[in-house]
Amino acid sequence: MANVQHFEYWQQLADSVSFEGRAYINGVLTEARAGETFDCRSPIDNRLLTSVASCDSTDADHAVAIARQTFESGVWSQLPPAQRKKTLQRFADLIDEHAEELALLETLDMGKPISDALNVDVPATSRCIRWCAEAIDKLYDEIAPTGFDELGMVTREAVGVVAAIVPWNFPMIMASWKLGPALAMGNSVILKPSEKSPLTAIRLALLAHEAGLPAGVFNVLPGYGHTVGKALALHMDVDTLAFTGSTAIAKQLMVYAGESNMKRVWTEAGGKSPNIVFADAPDLDKAAQAAADAICFNMGEMCTAGSRLLVEESIAETFVAKVREAFGRWRPGHPLDPQTNIGAIVDEPQLNRVLSYIEKGQADGASLTVGGNRSNTVSNGFYVEPTVFENVTNDMTIAQEEVFGPVLTVITFKDEDEALHIANDTVYGLAAALWTSNLGRAHRLARGLRAGSIWVNQYDGGDMTAPFGGYKQSGNGRDKSLHAFDKYSEIKATWIKLN
Ligand code: NAD
Repeated sequence: MANVQHFEYWQQLADSVSFEGRAYINGVLTEARAGETFDCRSPIDNRLLTSVASCDSTDADHAVAIARQTFESGVWSQLPPAQRKKTLQRFADLIDEHAEELALLETLDMGKPISDALNVDVPATSRCIRWCAEAIDKLYDEIAPTGFDELGMVTREAVGVVAAIVPWNFPMIMASWKLGPALAMGNSVILKPSEKSPLTAIRLALLAHEAGLPAGVFNVLPGYGHTVGKALALHMDVDTLAFTGSTAIAKQLMVYAGESNMKRVWTEAGGKSPNIVFADAPDLDKAAQAAADAICFNMGEMCTAGSRLLVEESIAETFVAKVREAFGRWRPGHPLDPQTNIGAIVDEPQLNRVLSYIEKGQADGASLTVGGNRSNTVSNGFYVEPTVFENVTNDMTIAQEEVFGPVLTVITFKDEDEALHIANDTVYGLAAALWTSNLGRAHRLARGLRAGSIWVNQYDGGDMTAPFGGYKQSGNGRDKSLHAFDKYSEIKATWIKLN
């Protein structure tokens, strides 16, 4: 059996893996109709991986027409749920069977450590598909509590054609959060991966069809946001747009929907999540390590990154010293080395964006106490040192804007009221954590924090059983759990007169 613990093993695999960059429409791999392509490069060392179809509005028109025809044919949409379940379970099994290949593609494409791609991204993706598959033949409709002379039925139906536009930080997981419930419900899907990470989306579509998903049910259109993404968002025959990405683009998509057919738009957007540590936290060492992990995991390219560490003044000095120490356990390394826990930033523009926020933090008077520099981990690659800013005030740019890199801001507070005020003083509302031994305080803050996920004495808890999504400008609707099916369903009321 191959030893996945060895750097050499992954390097050899990287030299022999094949890349597929074509679009996938109606069960056929296809070039963009205009013949356009873009280079797909690895942020590990800027090597060219392959060229990828750069789709545009003509490809969008074609894919939407196919998705519509397929939906209306009933070949998938009208299968009994138990049959859709079986195909999707097989799809999940195939994802697991191709774990190494998928993990490798993800790491090469967007720079995350191979051990995370293999142990986090792949299993979370298959689990999401499997969970939704298993749920779909257990979802019952409703009978309204009417009089005996009529029957009121409340039924859930697939919406039709779903366009899913996803980001690059967890390309497979974000895709699966849309694909799982959308496909299980019987919809036809067009997936638009980020231009920065298109490879696993195409591979997933091929695996889905190997599992028996009919042609035209799951299509993939690689390309840029302003071309094919915009065309899908403005399309008159897309019923639902499911998006994960930045708040700026989420807002734009809502405008496109208003300008076109009022398609439903579901957005999972940015965050600037507070991680609040009180002096009565049960274990300050654990809290300090979690504070570092919350911003360093996935190179800080996390919508839920714990980017604002709020520390009670009385423990600030000792606690922040522990956090600095915990940062020492996170160092950029070669992403294909299984020992690496922090890999490459997705590309040069994103690296420059992170570095410019670091400059801005210094210019605004925050104290840079850890990192702050580009790191030359692998030549020609894009790496940055995990970074800590202390003496930050919540109105500084680095405390308000999403950096999307391993940059922690430390802010102190005097008491619970001030902590809550600072925590909520943001346009975002994706997640928040608090560390305390005081049960009353935990409940008070869990209620007072305006965010979709709250963690007490841990950071980043959750699984498929609980909904995930944002308050305020972090988005609307929820991914994961049975709530996710709402995004991909219409609810119909049918009244039957009985006499
Ligand atoms: P982005 O908004 O730049 O791009 C996301 C997707 O939208 C990409 O596929 C892109 O091509 C597409 N796009 C861009 N412009 C478009 C347009 N005009 N019309 C249609 N599509 C367009 O975001 P990103 O840089 O890929 O990802 C990072 C962002 O994603 C961060 O803000 C992060 O917080 C957010 N995110 C949120 C969640 C969540 O669940 N809330 C999860 C992961 C990432």
